[in-house]
Amino acid sequence: PLPLVAIVGRPNVGKSTLVNRMAGTRSAIVHDEPGVTRDRLYQEVEWNGRRLRVVDTGGLIFGDDSEFLPHIRQQAMAALAEAQAVILVVDGMEGLLPADVEVASWLRKQPLPVVVAVNKCESGQMGLAQAAAFWELGLGEPIPCSGIHGNGVAEVLEAVLPHL
Ligand code: GDP
Ligand code: MG
Repeated sequence: PLPLVAIVGRPNVGKSTLVNRMAGTRSAIVHDEPGVTRDRLYQEVEWNGRRLRVVDTGGLIFGDDSEFLPHIRQQAMAALAEAQAVILVVDGMEGLLPADVEVASWLRKQPLPVVVAVNKCESGQMGLAQAAAFWELGLGEPIPCSGIHGNGVAEVLEAVLPHL
């Protein structure tokens, strides 16, 4: 199978949008409700002649108390066990939240390489400042990007590829 990258992050940070952008399609359903994206998890991405798969964990590893949680958590864990690398997506507009710190501290204990993608950073200078706040997560250089505009997505993929 193709190398696998797990997309992790709390709801609404833009995981589905980013995955769509990477896959160059609109096939992943963008929706805020738990359950909508959970069965549309795997997508193929081609970048610079490399092919990989991304799996959107649905942002529910540390989610709310939705009735779907146990099922989704199990799927997310299975995806992580299968993955060679993780993209932790955070929201540059909202800034650093306790839930990001919680996910990051869990990820730091895992053996997987993690790339921090700071989504919703549409503008260059401001994006850099927004992204810098996420050094705090202790997962290396945060990369500003925008799933909607497409900027920074190449840089995120370039950061991941060496780990695959
Ligand atoms: P998910 O829950 O993490 O999968 O997030 P979604 O991809 O469903 O996006 C959640 C919301 O954030 C939607 O309203 C998107 O339009 C918005 N969003 C996603 N990516 C971006 C981005 O790059 N910039 C901005 N400004 N909004 C975004
Ligand atoms: Mg989603």
